[in-house]
Amino acid sequence: MTEQEMLKMYEDAGALLNGHFVLSSGRHSARYLQSALVLMQPRNATALATELIKDINPDDYDMVVSPAIGGLVIGQEVARQLDKPFIFTERKEGEMQMRRGFSIPEGSRLLVVEDVITTGGSVRECIAVVREFGGKPTTILAVVDRAPQQQDRFDITHHTVIALDVETFASETCPMCQEGHLPAIKPGSRGHA
Ligand code: ZN
Repeated sequence: MTEQEMLKMYEDAGALLNGHFVLSSGRHSARYLQSALVLMQPRNATALATELIKDINPDDYDMVVSPAIGGLVIGQEVARQLDKPFIFTERKEGEMQMRRGFSIPEGSRLLVVEDVITTGGSVRECIAVVREFGGKPTTILAVVDRAPQQQDRFDITHHTVIALDVETFASETCPMCQEGHLPAIKPGSRGHA
């Protein structure tokens, strides 16, 4: 699949929203991406995961991990295709944690999978938790990169298949605010940080 075909999958699912949104960073944007609407079709998750792991050698990884909630569906599908165990980290009272009895055998190499990255905050927090548990995160895979010009977000390799450079504004200089439109706060966008 080409990047254009994948982007069309998002458009067809109504997952690219136009309006006035407050992102997790507090900045405002005229576009918002709701990946869950694409991934609600299992065949889309299958197709996107296949693209994500094209250059991945399964022998290089022992487990797959995702930050909840955004990364769960695509992470599970990547793990299924690679036939690796899948675990996830989640926020409790704002803090990323690993719960549910998951453990990581010492020195395990982990593939970190997310649906959308912007600042990369959730992925970095997930990586920090994995390291605390003795794992070695070695590669990040994400379907969409909303800030492809930011190449220094992570201390390990990352690979994405859709680049979507969305213009954002500080609230004081947001043209939509100046037109008097009230912004919508996207619930769950913290998971895309
Ligand atoms: Zn605004």
